[in-house]
Amino acid sequence: MHLPFSPFYLLLCFSLFVACSSPTPAPKVAATLVPPSPAIAITIDDLPGISLDNYQEVTDNLLTTLKKYRVPAIGFVNENKLYPKNKLDTARLNLLEAWLAAGMELGNHTYSHPDYNRLTFEEFTADILKGEFHTKRLHAKYGQKMRYFRHPFLHAGNTPEKKAELEQFLAKRNYEIAPVTIDNSEWIFAKAYHIAMRKKDGAELKKIGESYVAYMQDKTAFYEEQSKLLFDRPIKHTLLIHANALNGDYLDELLDMYQQRGYQFISLANALTDEAYQSKDDYVGRGGITWLHRWAMTKKMDKAFYKGEPACPEFIQEIAGIRE
Ligand SMILES: [Zn+2]
Repeated sequence: MHLPFSPFYLLLCFSLFVACSSPTPAPKVAATLVPPSPAIAITIDDLPGISLDNYQEVTDNLLTTLKKYRVPAIGFVNENKLYPKNKLDTARLNLLEAWLAAGMELGNHTYSHPDYNRLTFEEFTADILKGEFHTKRLHAKYGQKMRYFRHPFLHAGNTPEKKAELEQFLAKRNYEIAPVTIDNSEWIFAKAYHIAMRKKDGAELKKIGESYVAYMQDKTAFYEEQSKLLFDRPIKHTLLIHANALNGDYLDELLDMYQQRGYQFISLANALTDEAYQSKDDYVGRGGITWLHRWAMTKKMDKAFYKGEPACPEFIQEIAGIRE
């Protein structure tokens, strides 16, 4: 007969009592710090669009995709693009408004996209002010303010004086400079894409689009490594792309690529909270280069740091007729 109080049963109850009443042992290792997931701000230049046959369709595609991935993007405007044949095109003005209505931000990219290397400080800043007109009115309607400035061609000053004068001017007007860490040759792919569109060459369009996303992935991996070399950690990135047909068709694949790499999409304001953006930038020159390299040059990183940057594929350069 099996008794409930057999010696074995009593022993079992005692063991369980001891085990259950023991204080919970302290974890052997302190809670491991979870590394922050990589983050990126998406910035889109040359609004309402460049080299477009269909501004409306491209804008719709861009905004639909940005909303799908919940991207708080910022678009940088050239208001001269609102004036084809020197006449205000209200349809294009409505496209700008659509960005704000979709919850995106707008920033100033000058009126006519001039090259600061070729202009005086006075000429260049007059173009900046001219570029505020419509955007400021739209901002007022949506309770926003003009906050960010993006240099055309990323040219920030080819002499120390011009660079310093412009920085002071922008600060006085309450502008923050919008830097770029993930600079790239997307514009060459866009030119090739545009040419293939004209030819109505579907196979070539697909080849260009897929090559673009693969290239951007390689470029991102390259800058991720450089960030680690420069700051010993991943930084919040800022990506520069343009409002063009290529992104109208391939932004979804591009954002999917970033998502697959674990990226969170953040606002430019959020990205700029990363201390990396407070790094000293002594770079003065004619080049429009990534801020990572401006900081690296200021820190006097050796030549090895810059090695291995992915190039725009040869066939893309050939179709576009542009050398990188
Ligand atoms: Zn631009």
